[in-house]
Amino acid sequence: MSARILVVEDEEALCALLDYNLGKEGFTVDVRKDGEEALVAMLEQKPDLILLDWMLPKVSGIEICRQVRARGETRDIPIIMLTARGEEDDRIRGLDTGADDYLTKPFSMTELMARVRAVLRRTRPTLTGDVATFGDIILDRETRRVRRGGREVHLGPTEFRLLDCLLQRPGRVFSREQLLDMVWGRDVYVEARTVDVHVGRLRKALNARGERDPIRTVRAAGYALDETYGAAV
Ligand code: CA
Repeated sequence: MSARILVVEDEEALCALLDYNLGKEGFTVDVRKDGEEALVAMLEQKPDLILLDWMLPKVSGIEICRQVRARGETRDIPIIMLTARGEEDDRIRGLDTGADDYLTKPFSMTELMARVRAVLRRTRPTLTGDVATFGDIILDRETRRVRRGGREVHLGPTEFRLLDCLLQRPGRVFSREQLLDMVWGRDVYVEARTVDVHVGRLRKALNARGERDPIRTVRAAGYALDETYGAAV
C-alpha cells in the first residue's frame, strides 16, 4: 500500500520522469499541469504529499501553497516545493508560506525519493514504516505477514493490500471506488462488488476464532477499520 502523491508541474519531461520514478517506488501518482487543476484534484481525493513546482501557469506554486494551508481539508498535506536554481528568495518565501521542504532543480531522483520519504515519515509514519499495528493486529510489510493476538493470519495478496489500505487511516471510511483504485489500481476494470468479496475473505481470515470484527461496513459509503476496536484491545 502506498502514499498518494500529487505532482503539480508543467514541464512535460519532468512530469514523465516523476510519474515513472515515483510509480516505480510504489507511490500512487497524480500529475496535474496547472494550479487550477491541482486545487480541484486535491479536493476530489486528498493526497498524502504534494510535489509543487514554483513557476506554474494560471495559479503560481506559492499561491497554491497558500490556498492549501488556508483550507481546513487540505491544511495538513505536506508540500515539497520544486524551485529553479537562483530562486533563493522564492525558496525562503515558500517555506514561509508553509512548504515543508524544497528541492532545487535540477535534482536527482535519489535525492527526491529521500526527501519524499523523510517528509512522509514525519507526517504519516504508518505509511512508510514497515510495520503497522492496530489493536492486536500487526501487519509487517517487509515479510508480508499478518498476526492477530500472536496468531498468524494467512491472507491472499489482495486481502493483504486491502488490510494495509484500511490500516493507513483507521476510522476513515474508504469507498469501494477508493479501495479499487488503491488496491487494484486505476487502469484495471473491476466491479465494485469485487471489493465486497475480498473484504468478506479478509474478515473470514482475520476473525477465524469468532473474534470481534475490526472492520466496519458503512452502509452506502464503504468500509473502515473500527477505531473503537483499535483503542479497546
Ligand atoms: Ca514550471
